[in-house]
Amino acid sequence: MKNSIQDKGGNPCCSCGVCAIICPVSSIEIGMDESGFYRPKVNEDVCKQCGVCKEVCYKYLQSPENNQHFFKDKKIFGAWSKDEDVVKMSSSGGVGGELIVHGLSKGYLSCGVIFEPEKERCQHILAESKEVAQAFCGSKYLQSFTAGAFSQFQPDKKYIVVGTPCQIYGLRQYIKLKKWEDNFILVDFFCHGTPSYLLWQKYKEYLKTHHDVDALKEVWFRSKENGKWHENAVRVDDTTGNRYFEPEAFKKDLFFKFFLSNSCLNDSCPRCLLRHDICSSDIRVADFWGGKYKDNEKGVSLVALNTKKGEGFFAEIKERLVTENCTFADLQDSQRHRYYIVHKRASKVMHLLKTDMELLEIYKRTIKPTLRNRLKERVRKQLRKLFNNNK
Ligand SMILES: Cc1cc2nc3c(=O)[nH]c(=O)nc-3n(C[C@H](O)[C@H](O)[C@H](O)COP(=O)(O)OP(=O)(O)OC[C@H]3O[C@@H](n4cnc5c(N)ncnc54)[C@H](O)[C@@H]3O)c2cc1C
Repeated sequence: MKNSIQDKGGNPCCSCGVCAIICPVSSIEIGMDESGFYRPKVNEDVCKQCGVCKEVCYKYLQSPENNQHFFKDKKIFGAWSKDEDVVKMSSSGGVGGELIVHGLSKGYLSCGVIFEPEKERCQHILAESKEVAQAFCGSKYLQSFTAGAFSQFQPDKKYIVVGTPCQIYGLRQYIKLKKWEDNFILVDFFCHGTPSYLLWQKYKEYLKTHHDVDALKEVWFRSKENGKWHENAVRVDDTTGNRYFEPEAFKKDLFFKFFLSNSCLNDSCPRCLLRHDICSSDIRVADFWGGKYKDNEKGVSLVALNTKKGEGFFAEIKERLVTENCTFADLQDSQRHRYYIVHKRASKVMHLLKTDMELLEIYKRTIKPTLRNRLKERVRKQLRKLFNNNK
């Protein structure tokens, strides 16, 4: 057994990248694997087997014994920014953006995710100004590269960091070991998971062939241009001024069809322990899709306050927001899934994404619903409607 992250562990690697920044001899590098996910690689000639990388790693996290939902006793809010422009730029109610702006005003450096069209990847960066941090607004549904930004943290500075629950888990372990916790505010979100970059590459080829969109300039995974938050529009602009726009992305866009079918997520995503069982952030945000806000088409953020520090920080921005007290039942109504079932087709999808086959063809051969399944779904929908009307 190796005293490093090469030791197997009970969970799959979640690609958070924190092992690379904690290694005292820089023996770990993060690179993209052949399945399109960031993975650490240990240089055995350099590694001293000190085991510190295991202390921050999600692979060795155990599920809690009490099996209680983490958010059961937390304060829950529905909230949105009073600034309509912030709401428009953001995925849900813009609380993520308001937290960052407030952090900057209190002398925190902010750390969030941008999409880089030239490198065609997402990465965390540090921002000292509101102008730079504006690019953090809006969810980017790809794994972000963390190691560049996370390795710049200094003991004498304060940071507000937003990331996936697994990135924030690794980071919490890191700042605990470094004894830097007082300097950090950590924010995460209810996370569906992150899909393979192989999907993204195929999607780009598909946009070029079928929509004449070539070298990317900007991508909005959560555009609110058509004013229908629940349907979610996706927009991609290329450098020549061509544009792809799908107003009902959750239903009709090819990238989202694959992403939401859970057939090409990171190995750790379907049974992620950080979705409902454990959470390491001070504040968790999410889309408040559920019953209570089903008719809101501008966007509402769900906010759960997990620590005293999170409560204090949120109290300070409350006057910039409209907030409504919500219950744990409201949260559950909005965030139903604890784990995802991995369909048999997932391995076929991953296999085909590695071949020359076009994305549209892979869709037809794998996740496109058959006539029988479409009929079944229609019957299920009608039954659900009947049931809800009789409630
Ligand atoms: C990969 C992914 C999966 C998600 N899955 C769900 C889900 O299943 N259910 C749900 O309710 N909400 C989910 N969310 C969160 C949701 O999309 C919104 O981010 C959340 O509702 C907060 O919205 P907001 O308007 O307050 O802030 P936003 O404007 O969305 O800002 C949120 C912050 O997210 C950060 N961010 C953006 N992309 C990434 C990324 N790829 N990795 C790490 N951080 C990123 C930005 O730095 C920004 O600070 C997911 C987000 C991502 C990125």
